[in-house]
Amino acid sequence: MNEFIPVNTPLFTGNEKKYLNECIDTGWVSSEGAFIKKFEHEFSRYCNRKHGIAVSNGSAALDIAVKAIGIKKGDEVILPTFTIISPALSIIKAGGIPVYVDSEADTWNMDVDKIEACITDKTKAIVVVHIYGLPVEMDKILNLASKYNLRIIEDAAEMHGQTFDNKICGSFGDISIFSFYANKTITTGEGGMIVCDDDKLAEKCKKYRNLSFEPDQPRFMHFETGWNYRMTNMQAALGLAQLEQIDNLIIKKRAMGAFYQNELKFLKNYGFDLPLPSTPFAQNIYWVFGLVAPTESEKIKVLDHLKKELIGTRPFFWCMHEQPLFISNNTEKMPSFPIAEKLARCGFYIPSGLGLTEFDMKRTVNSIKKLYA
Ligand SMILES: *Cc1c(COP(=O)(O)O)cnc(C)c1O
Repeated sequence: MNEFIPVNTPLFTGNEKKYLNECIDTGWVSSEGAFIKKFEHEFSRYCNRKHGIAVSNGSAALDIAVKAIGIKKGDEVILPTFTIISPALSIIKAGGIPVYVDSEADTWNMDVDKIEACITDKTKAIVVVHIYGLPVEMDKILNLASKYNLRIIEDAAEMHGQTFDNKICGSFGDISIFSFYANKTITTGEGGMIVCDDDKLAEKCKKYRNLSFEPDQPRFMHFETGWNYRMTNMQAALGLAQLEQIDNLIIKKRAMGAFYQNELKFLKNYGFDLPLPSTPFAQNIYWVFGLVAPTESEKIKVLDHLKKELIGTRPFFWCMHEQPLFISNNTEKMPSFPIAEKLARCGFYIPSGLGLTEFDMKRTVNSIKKLYA
């Protein structure tokens, strides 16, 4: 009898246990422990950034980044409609207005050529979200930012170690964020990090993560809102051990992607889109291995089949402009975003976690082949 193959399985093969035990043996389990500073230092250095601010998760990192960059009531912020909800929520909670952009059919990222038409005199920032494995065309984004004086928030939650034109993701724009959720390329279970170069911005982020305690004011006297979004020493211990192995983790991700590409390329004959292996600026890092079926019913057919075969899958993100949460708040008719809508309806991903065995990858592709035999 086959066992269920989860869509994600993390991999802990380095110093994870040793460092976690150190937290317990020394009693340093809160956000005050030494692993926090070490993880922040090593991770920000890895991203070529001056500052790292570890937080409780990637969505918290976005809340802080949006506030620190100064998004206020009425500010328009441009972002892809095809993304996780976290960036849109952070903008809305700050009083900002999300302005959505359609996707590219091949990279699944925001169509950068459609951004300029969305810029108004209320536009304050662009949230760049790198989706699933390929980076957004950063050179064009940075040109727009300087032309229109816009702030850039880079959501690199899925892009640990990816590069654009040989520059590391997380190093672009004013401020960048990462997630270390259990399905991310390096994980702390739950966790996140903000990275930036500007000293004042970093100070703000540290303050907002810690209930806006003021470093130069009497303790327990507050002047701004903030959150408790602190990371624990145990999370940082796990993160540091994971970061030590990142080169190998990325090699493994890319090898898994290459295996799936090769074994599943026959699906193109059935009208499926596979991830683009590369662009002129990057090799796909295959955070997850996505497939886009030709129709929604074809997707449902594959997902039902894989479920019966005990193989885990996830649908792609659901577009922001079609979120019930936002539609009820907004009676205006939204424009349509045909490419993103197709991705949301027809896309899904197959088991892609670093802990996935070769045997289970083969079982997954054989199961898909069986459906089309
Ligand atoms: C995972 C993810 C997040 C949110 O991170 P959490 O740690 O789960 O809060 C934000 N943005 C993107 C693009 C993500 O993939």
